[in-house]
Formats: sequence, structure tokens, C-alpha cells
Amino acid sequence: MATLAQNELSANVAMELERPACSAVIQVQDVHKYYDLGETKVHALRGVDMTIEPGEFVAIMGSSGSGKSTFMNMLGCLDKPTSGKYILEGTNVSSLDKKQLAAIRNRKLGFVFQGFNLLSRTTALENVELPTLYAQMEKSMRQARSKEVLGLVGLGERMDHFPSQLSGGQQQRVAIARALVNKPAILLADEPTGNLDSRTSVEIMQIFQDLNDSGLTIVLVTHEPDIAQFAKRTVVFRDGKIRHDDPVSNRPRAAEVLKNMPTVDED
Ligand code: ADP
Ligand code: MG
Repeated sequence: MATLAQNELSANVAMELERPACSAVIQVQDVHKYYDLGETKVHALRGVDMTIEPGEFVAIMGSSGSGKSTFMNMLGCLDKPTSGKYILEGTNVSSLDKKQLAAIRNRKLGFVFQGFNLLSRTTALENVELPTLYAQMEKSMRQARSKEVLGLVGLGERMDHFPSQLSGGQQQRVAIARALVNKPAILLADEPTGNLDSRTSVEIMQIFQDLNDSGLTIVLVTHEPDIAQFAKRTVVFRDGKIRHDDPVSNRPRAAEVLKNMPTVDED
């Protein structure tokens, strides 16, 4: 017959198994961010807590100035919190120096921005290859991987085009391919559809949903509720704090929505 102590022990072991110590990709604990403007200080994040598990698809919303970009810059290791903790795949990022942050950024994170940020005198393929130059990868492997991700976003036929020869939606696909080329653990996107028409925006969300279906964790900032609905979870910021954090019910599939949207001519 088991003793009380043994029962207690096995109950503890069972709890540990249910809840592995750090299964989360992202753990943010009581984060504050102050911008120091000399005379004044802006308190941009005021005690933010958030946990993001692998395979989540989170849309961050909130009005202008609510702290969304500040939060994303921290998640993306572009900036550090003034206080609080940010743990990325088990690493306490808040304590790293600039060089270590850059290394983590290149290895674990993919970025997509509103303005695409492609190099204009460089082909789609070369734009996508760029992040692989800092990764330890053989030249032939680099090209193969870059072509693979361009195929994944539906641009296999346009690899030799320059950004000016591509539509806005196609340029954003190149940017998504570039973000994926080093196989990041997380894709971070700040208003990725901000410069795109409605149909093209939904096409980009279709790519995000497909990537998320294949296991990629995605955090997206948008001020458009229609776009946020394609995610699995919405988080609303106000005045540097999280005001709502809810799962999306009846999430639409972008592929289905596209069937009922008019097509626009692409030049
Ligand atoms: P959002 O992306 O939701 O519009 P931000 O994170 O850009 O919000 O800004 C949050 C607050 O921090 C705002 O009051 C903004 O003016 C301020 N802020 C953002 N970036 C800086 C900065 N680099 N220097 C000073 N203040 C900033
Ligand atoms: Mg912003």
C-alpha cells in the first residue's frame, strides 16, 4: 500500500508531466517600458503579462499609441523592456546584450512589416537569400532554401523580378519568404496588410493561416477587426496595458472568404 508521502510525490510528478516547465514560446512577465525624452518620460507599456504557446496565431489590436509596436519591438528583440521579464523559448532575453540579441533575432524570428522593406535593386530571390548570409549555410543550400520558400508563397515563377516589377501583394509575399528562409520559431508581423487592398490582404492572411496550420507560431499587429478574425486569439491593448485577451470563435478561413471576393486586375 502506498504511503501518503508516495501519493503526494506521484501527484507532483503527474502535475509536472501535465505542465512542462517551459512549453511556451513566449513568456512576458510584468513588462514596463519607458521612453526617456529628457524632460518627460513616456510610459508606453504598463505591466504586460502574456504567454504564447507553440502553434498559436495571435492578433494584437488597439488604437494608435496604445503600445502595440513597442510590444512587438520587444518580442522581436529590437528593444528591451525597462523592467520585467521576456523569456523566448526558455531564454531570458531581457538579460542579453546587443550582439546576443541580434543572434537570437536572426535564428529564431522572422519579421514582416507594413512597408515590405525590400532592397529595390535586388531580385526577389536575392532579397530572400539575404538573411541566409548570416546563417551557417552552404551556398547551394541557400539558393535551394530561398527557392523553396518563394514557391511556398506562390512566387516560384517570379524569382528574377525586381520589387518594382511586382505588385504590392507580391512584394509582401517576397517579404514573407524572406522572413521564413531561416526557419524561424515565430513570425512577427506589424500591420502586414496596412498598404494592401482588401482582396490582397485576405490573400496574405491565407498564407498566414497555411503557415500556422503547418505549425508556425504567428503574432500579428493589425487595426482591422476583419483581419484579426483570421487569427486564433485576439489581444487588445489600451494605454500600454492588455484590456482584452480572447479566443476567436467561428474563425473564417481566408481561402473560403476569397471565393466570394471580386478579383482585381493585376498589372
Ligand atoms: P502603437 O504601435 O500602438 O501605435 P507605440 O508602441 O508606437 O503604439 O507607442 C506607444 C507610446 O509610446 C506612444 O505614446 C508613443 O508616442 C510612444 N513612443 C513610441 N516609440 C517611441 C520612441 N521611440 N520614443 C519616444 N516615445 C515613443
Ligand atoms: Mg504601431
